[in-house]
Amino acid sequence: MEPILIKYLLLGVLVLNFFFGKILGFLNIRRPLSEVPPTLQEYISPGKLEQARNYQKTNYKFGLITSTFSFVLTFLFIYFGFFGWLDSGLRTFIDQPLILSIAYFAILFIGSDILAIPFDYYQTFTIEEKFGFNKTTKKTYFSDKLKGYLISIVIGGGLLGLLIWLIHQMGKDFWWQFWLIAVFFMVFVNLFYTALILPLFNKLTPLEDGELKTRIIQYAQSVGFPLDNIFVIDGSKRSSKANAFFSGFGTRKKVVLYDTLIEQHTPDELIAVLAHEIGHYKKKHIIWSMGLSMIQVGVLLFTLSLFIFNENMSLALGGSTLAIHLNIVGFTMLLSPISMILGIGMNLLSRKNEFEADAYAKTTFDGRPLAEALKTLSVNSLSNINPHPWYVFVNYSHPPLLERLEKLEA
Ligand SMILES: [Zn+2]
Repeated sequence: MEPILIKYLLLGVLVLNFFFGKILGFLNIRRPLSEVPPTLQEYISPGKLEQARNYQKTNYKFGLITSTFSFVLTFLFIYFGFFGWLDSGLRTFIDQPLILSIAYFAILFIGSDILAIPFDYYQTFTIEEKFGFNKTTKKTYFSDKLKGYLISIVIGGGLLGLLIWLIHQMGKDFWWQFWLIAVFFMVFVNLFYTALILPLFNKLTPLEDGELKTRIIQYAQSVGFPLDNIFVIDGSKRSSKANAFFSGFGTRKKVVLYDTLIEQHTPDELIAVLAHEIGHYKKKHIIWSMGLSMIQVGVLLFTLSLFIFNENMSLALGGSTLAIHLNIVGFTMLLSPISMILGIGMNLLSRKNEFEADAYAKTTFDGRPLAEALKTLSVNSLSNINPHPWYVFVNYSHPPLLERLEKLEA
């Protein structure tokens, strides 16, 4: 395909993507607010409903500004060939192709992050603060940023360097070789996330002995779940929002509960939440979604291998000659509609899995405390109780609250 055609294709994909997302968001925010459903009446006062509405509107408007900003910037970058211009500029200093590619991505990464920081800062310290969610201090915020950069440099930079090196060394065969590395890495992260990465950001303490711990262990034994340890994480250091999850393979599973979750729920509710998480494991959702992600990465790498040595892609972005890094940038943009369709498929599967995990908690423990816990979680996080079905179809990884309650309370 001619470079000029590829350029217009890239612009077209960008515009379509942007407006599709905006239309869904608009439909969602415009959806008239229904009465508070009977099942939530004890939980939501009219004032709370109003507050949730304001929170969603504020986030919608803010999202509109940030996404429009990044859309316009990307559009101009493609239109005026800035991506290629940056490549040509770097070529006057750097001859070595691998170093050139890494320097190119480093500049894009640092540039986009510098632009994103003010927005992110405003989101955390103005919006989340105003609605009472933010608990993070400026010190924690910036030390998180710093640690995030270090991890990006070590892990992201390492993987990217490896990918580009393989492309240069192996030609088109790089795709399956890098795929093997990526698969190994995904398993590694899943195994050691709680042990290696989480402690960099949070403090994990073993759950103290007491009623809650005894009952969790009892429940885990009753369903034959190989529980290794239960940790409490100091999530309250950053946000009042709550969560629970577990990690690890085989017989050494670690359950992690946010301190905010323990504060806001009764032991019955906590066990029900855990029963839901264990349901994901028992129904093999975790293995499945990991397998699917691996296949997805493989397909993307294979597709990348078809485009990677196409000079016209580099020229379309304003480059003067074939550049691997320009092609990776172009490829990522061109593929965004396909990524979106894959994402919709993954969300569909994920929503089905959530219902299954709910059903598991209901049969092995009790549906009512889980319903109560979901109500508290959803009301406290001011989430939308009446989202637009199309918005849900595309964006929601979890079914809307009312649909889950209907099944749990049946
Ligand atoms: Zn779940």
